[in-house]
Amino acid sequence: MSEAPVDWDSLTFSMTETDFMYIAKTAIDAPWAPGEILPYGNISISPAAGVINYGQGLFEGMKAYRTNAGRVVLFRPEENARRMQRGADRLKMPPVPESIFIDAVEQCVQQNARWIPPMGKGALYVRPLLNGSGPILGVAPAPEYTFMIYVTPVGPYFKGGMSCINLLISDHHHRAAPGGSGGVKAIGNYAPGMMPSKNAKAAGYAEVIYLDAEEHKYVEEVGAANFFCLKDGVLYTPELTGTILPGITRDSIIQLARHMGYEVVEEKVEAGFAMSAEEAFCCGTAAVISPIGSITLGDKTVTYSDGATPGELTLKLYNALTNIQNEVDEDTFGWVHPVPGLE
Ligand SMILES: *Cc1c(COP(=O)(O)O)cnc(C)c1O
Repeated sequence: MSEAPVDWDSLTFSMTETDFMYIAKTAIDAPWAPGEILPYGNISISPAAGVINYGQGLFEGMKAYRTNAGRVVLFRPEENARRMQRGADRLKMPPVPESIFIDAVEQCVQQNARWIPPMGKGALYVRPLLNGSGPILGVAPAPEYTFMIYVTPVGPYFKGGMSCINLLISDHHHRAAPGGSGGVKAIGNYAPGMMPSKNAKAAGYAEVIYLDAEEHKYVEEVGAANFFCLKDGVLYTPELTGTILPGITRDSIIQLARHMGYEVVEEKVEAGFAMSAEEAFCCGTAAVISPIGSITLGDKTVTYSDGATPGELTLKLYNALTNIQNEVDEDTFGWVHPVPGLE
């Protein structure tokens, strides 16, 4: 296999086309059968497809890493499979069986192995999609579904050390409402965040913090990442009420912090409480952990520490998590999933 035409040192979080993709299709009432690996390329779709008319679609995001043990691993891929199943239930799509999901992810990583960055240079980002691809005119579940995966090499989120981000609490927009689809990775949840996010960036912030839609009081998420803060030695994160996406990084951090002996509290986190904390960070697959330097609400800005130095626990958790992912530390939680054939 020839070497991938990539400058590993200048990778960012952006799209590079790779060699192969995976596609499986099923009719609405038929069981899923394993799909096939095809050369990466454009797909053709009906103009009346459920996904492009009514947003009947989900995505997932995960990473494959080359590790210290000289092999390629995924991180808790079963959790991505299960989350996509819960999303499929919510959007009335046939859930992809976990075994087909995992097998598809493994095949995609194996077939695109030359695109996996060397250890420390980044990861192969894996993007599974499930959508209603069949034509439907009225608002109803599509007659046919497509489960698809593509992959792309991405760089480490932080080059030359972690940098703190400055965030703006959104005062006019909400991400998700009770009873809606905020708790699943429904594609329709993301476009409405683009305008607030762009506006915040134009004003010099890295991202917006969304408050809850009912009382406009409690922190929900940071763009598409989960929120944590440390106050008086206790780690707080907003509880999963159905409007917050249950991040796999979030769950891993809760377990790691408890394992380290910290008390972790999942409850409603008031904006004012978050702004009085000693440390704050957000987390997700893409950034892993991003330390927060400051939060602005209206005309008030609070800075954590000097606004530029990540908190002590933030760094500790970042190191603990990435050392498991890179197989530098022992995987006592059973989180890493070696990719067969790349061991
Ligand atoms: C994907 C996502 C996250 C992070 O989830 P991970 O499983 O940790 O990658 C957090 N919030 C939103 C809204 C997301 O879409």
